Amino acid sequence: MKIVAPKGTRDILPPEINKWHYIESIIREVMNLYSFYEIRTPIFEYTELFQRGIGDTTDIVNKEMYTFLDKKGRSITLRPENTASVVRAYIEHKMYGLGGVGKFYYIGPMFRYERPQAGRQRQFHQYGMEIIGTKDPKADVEIIKATEEIYKRLGFTDYKILINSVGCPKCRPYYEEELKLYLKDKYDQLCDDCKVRYHKNPLRILDCKREGCRRATESAPKIIDYLCEECKIHFEKVLSYLDALNIKYEINHRLVRGLDYYTKTAFEVIAGGLGAQDAVGGGGRYDGLAQEIGGKEIPGVGFAGGMERLILALSHAGIEFPREDIQDLFVVFREEVEKEAFALIFRLREKGVKADYALGKKSIKAQLKEADKKGVKYVVIIGEEEVEKKILTLKNMETGEGKKITEKELYKLFEKE
Ligand SMILES: [Zn+2]
Ligand SMILES: [Zn+2]
Repeated sequence: MKIVAPKGTRDILPPEINKWHYIESIIREVMNLYSFYEIRTPIFEYTELFQRGIGDTTDIVNKEMYTFLDKKGRSITLRPENTASVVRAYIEHKMYGLGGVGKFYYIGPMFRYERPQAGRQRQFHQYGMEIIGTKDPKADVEIIKATEEIYKRLGFTDYKILINSVGCPKCRPYYEEELKLYLKDKYDQLCDDCKVRYHKNPLRILDCKREGCRRATESAPKIIDYLCEECKIHFEKVLSYLDALNIKYEINHRLVRGLDYYTKTAFEVIAGGLGAQDAVGGGGRYDGLAQEIGGKEIPGVGFAGGMERLILALSHAGIEFPREDIQDLFVVFREEVEKEAFALIFRLREKGVKADYALGKKSIKAQLKEADKKGVKYVVIIGEEEVEKKILTLKNMETGEGKKITEKELYKLFEKE
């Protein structure tokens, strides 16, 4: 039987890989400009990291993790996201000792056992950023601004930033009680998942996408009216810095990250007409996460976005990707002079000309056909006469024009291009 890629995985082939390189280069450009530096953590970690770092009550940990025992019987999990790993690395390498605040970014594959659908694979890719080691609300805004900058540079014009505060372990329990009180006589309208959430994690009912749950929570009390003094001041400062940078946002009361160690700021970005229910990325503050995975109390804030979703959103928005697979020049030659032509190709490459040729094709006609298929602008044709007279025949494939030039003139032409 023929072997194919496992369900939920996908080969990324040329020329699609162009899109990835393009997006990655913009992410790196912005991250570098903002002094975030790349961190590469392992693809797999001990399962406990995610159990404690994402939380036992989440779908990710309960249903979606790729978990297995290694040969020594240790429970290993393919990373379903990267924040827990980055915080783990920050603590493990005692980076809090190196002047405190760490600014990191990452791009890489993540793994979740989900039902595969458009834009959702079992091996998918995320890019993200984290600022670890400070409670300063400016850090929250720097993350939001960096995210916006990436979307702007990619060419999005109709993105939207949604923001909320989810409070802290001091003030959130009061709100949760209020919310439960409000939902008490609407309990029967909730979906089965939300009935469980009502007892375990009522905040998450607010972001349930089911019609009944949305109706039930329509005029629910808002968490920002229940924030403690510290959370309230933090939220006000975040909004004031956003205003100072002219960043447009919308306060959205449904935006929650329903775990104890997510605190204060939560935000999401919607772009490319994917619809309000489908954010291209989201983030927030996680001041309680470090302690949860066995470190000291280290505050942090971050963002993560899906690469596949981003590519989908870019296509929806009609944004074109620059192509990187276009050659400057194609060398076409008669078999009798193949050694001379072969040497010329590498001299051209040495001069920085992106020259290529047709492997395994003998006739001039077949070679020209390949050049045409590849969208090459210039072709150089070499026969015995050309070798003898040390001259080249240059053909402009767009205009069909041909002329004789020397090798030196050819280099000059590409210096100008
Ligand atoms: Zn609070
Ligand atoms: Zn629900």
